[in-house]
Amino acid sequence: MTNLKQNLTVSSLAVFGGKPISKTAIHSCRPYADDKEAFLQHLDTAWQARRFTNNGPLVVELEQQLQSYLKVDHCIATNNGTAAMSILMQALGLKQEVILPSFTFISTAHTLHMAGIKPVFCDIDPINWTLDIEHCKQLINDKTSAIIGTHIWGNACNIEELTQLCSDKGIQLIFDAAHALGCTYHGTPIGQFGAAEVFSFHATKVFHTFEGGAITTNSSELAERLRKTRNFGFNDYDHVTLAGTNAKMTEISAAMGLASLSSLEKRVKHCHRAYKRYQELLKGVNGISFYQRNTGEKSNYHYIVAEVSDEFGLNRDELVNVLHAENIVVRRYFYPGSHQSEPYKTLYRTTDNELPITHKIARRVLILPGGADISDEEIDVTCKLIRFIHANADKIATILRKQSS
Ligand SMILES: *Cc1c(COP(=O)(O)O)cnc(C)c1O
Repeated sequence: MTNLKQNLTVSSLAVFGGKPISKTAIHSCRPYADDKEAFLQHLDTAWQARRFTNNGPLVVELEQQLQSYLKVDHCIATNNGTAAMSILMQALGLKQEVILPSFTFISTAHTLHMAGIKPVFCDIDPINWTLDIEHCKQLINDKTSAIIGTHIWGNACNIEELTQLCSDKGIQLIFDAAHALGCTYHGTPIGQFGAAEVFSFHATKVFHTFEGGAITTNSSELAERLRKTRNFGFNDYDHVTLAGTNAKMTEISAAMGLASLSSLEKRVKHCHRAYKRYQELLKGVNGISFYQRNTGEKSNYHYIVAEVSDEFGLNRDELVNVLHAENIVVRRYFYPGSHQSEPYKTLYRTTDNELPITHKIARRVLILPGGADISDEEIDVTCKLIRFIHANADKIATILRKQSS
């Protein structure tokens, strides 16, 4: 697949017309495909029972297993994480304005916008890259109905301070925990903070159901409303009590979830080993640093998050281009930030000066190939290339910049 032995020269780089070092794409988060036998067994159960959806037994079982894994009272499984966020906003009655980080996946801003709510973009902490509390405080006004924090890369937000702030102001607090399955805050599994937390089980995540998601909460009343909202507002066969949608998880997705939940810890270990291998192999490369995980907490290390600064010799985007040409599909999550994406860029004109840390990090962040399916060889070849590019940065930059001018 890759040619580790290949002698690298500047002119043989794929960006300059050479052969890519990897024949096939090495992705940042390739979906894992383990546990096929167990998956097929669960699927067979659904087949026999003719139960494919509508809160079937596999969905119910998956919700129970997630509840006990996360030590939370209620888990409501959905067809994806975005729909989960959408029904949560509906069930909590969010309105007018909601504060969220710009530096997160665009789905949250879209979900607010499509519900007629204005997304108000907040800057992030320079170390943790989660919501900057002081900036949050400045953004709160009498239209603010909630704050949505993202536990970015599995690092929890400053939950204590956010909880205090929201309770003082009488507004809702919810969390996007799409990255945070298997991560802790003060030793407690993420999933029970705020009014509710939202997970994504998309194929690229550390635990997946092809497409899928869930909301977790300790509120029975909210859980009840979410279950109805997920299913068109039905109370029973023909009794509709509130406005709802279709956000149900299928039995096929639940089959995948049941097949692979028990191996989550194994995948987390794999991701952790991968992270340590990167740290080892890129040690001493000026201009490449690794995002710091919260100390004393459990993390899933699902994303290998690096920061590229000027000392590297190429800027982040040049490095991305050189690696992409070699078939190493590193990613720039979350560049350029939600505030610089349409329609928000045109609608609200939040400037980079208002969000200086977001602006800085979005231009430097680099997600390296990782995830539960990454092999040592793929890590080695990526690191070998990055080291070579760094060692020859002046020469490569000169040619690249001449080409583009
Ligand atoms: C993946 C992701 C989502 C969206 O989840 P889907 O299941 O793809 O709808 C939301 N927020 C973050 C931070 C994500 O990474």
